[in-house]
Amino acid sequence: MNLARFPRIRLAHLPTPLEPMPRLSKALGGPDIWIKRDDCTGLSTGGNKTRKLEFLMAEAVEQGADIVLTQGATQSNHARQTAAAAAKLGMDCHILLEDRTGYNHENYKYNGNVLLDVLHGASVEHRGPGLDMNAEMETVADAMRAKGRNAYTIPGGGSNATGALGYVNCALEMMGQFVTQGLAVDHIVHATGSAGTQAGLITGLKAMNAQIPLLGIGVRAPKPKQEENVYALAVKTAEKLGCPGVVERADVVANTDYVGEGYGIPADSTLEAIDIFARTEAILLDPVYSAKGAAGLIDLIRKGHFKQGETVVFLHTGGAIGLTGYSHSFDVAGRI
Ligand SMILES: *Cc1c(COP(=O)(O)O)cnc(C)c1O
Repeated sequence: MNLARFPRIRLAHLPTPLEPMPRLSKALGGPDIWIKRDDCTGLSTGGNKTRKLEFLMAEAVEQGADIVLTQGATQSNHARQTAAAAAKLGMDCHILLEDRTGYNHENYKYNGNVLLDVLHGASVEHRGPGLDMNAEMETVADAMRAKGRNAYTIPGGGSNATGALGYVNCALEMMGQFVTQGLAVDHIVHATGSAGTQAGLITGLKAMNAQIPLLGIGVRAPKPKQEENVYALAVKTAEKLGCPGVVERADVVANTDYVGEGYGIPADSTLEAIDIFARTEAILLDPVYSAKGAAGLIDLIRKGHFKQGETVVFLHTGGAIGLTGYSHSFDVAGRI
């Protein structure tokens, strides 16, 4: 595997820190928990999509694109990071936002990520729930091409084999940090959605023969579908990297017990995770992804799945700006 031969534009502040969480570890009474701070990638409040965009935007530039299109849910962190990357590179950006939650609150519709989409100069159009959003986007892109635009489309979450290279890079970066920080890691845990993060990580970890199990905590799809999505993308990513077959189906493990009612709808365990992380470590989680991942981590520690004496790394994938779009989920007035 030779990641350096793929075109890449530096957008992220790397390496992101790898830090202990002693107060959280003590509060939960289980393993030593460390955090990999991919919420600190720097671009427009950071997050995991920036690593993917380093490779995706390089491909867009290489193809001479003058506009990038992508799609996501209303409070999409991916759409916001794409809008920011496009602004930084002097490209136009057009976003299709799907109303996936049915929320009608002012803050949900106009604050958080949506506010930043607009500040970065992206144009936005909306779709109702349940459509094939990548197909919707391709239709819009084709109409732009017919008018002479050179449009580059990025699938939801930036999750294709090019985007997943960003998380192969993260796997390399973490393994280096484990060595320099003298950390014998037993598990890595993170939130998994459109699959690119988990697919890139597992491909990188397996290509290095890291022997560290990776657990994705699902935020949307049921377990069989989530694992299939991740595996299919990992297979493509490994092929792209020149190490086909390095990922086996059994390497891909997702736990989807913490989704709650559905994508983008915080469960009680989601809100509890946000409170626990904020009060013990002053870490801000987001209600759509990272807090569902953290809820899984917390519950699996309580159930004894992760044990005392082990070291677990929680990969923080970002998204805290979304909290301001979810003020309705927190009884702020009642807590003052
Ligand atoms: C997109 C996202 C994820 C999930 O990553 P995928 O690569 O889509 O699986 C996790 N956390 C946050 C904050 C995200 O924005």
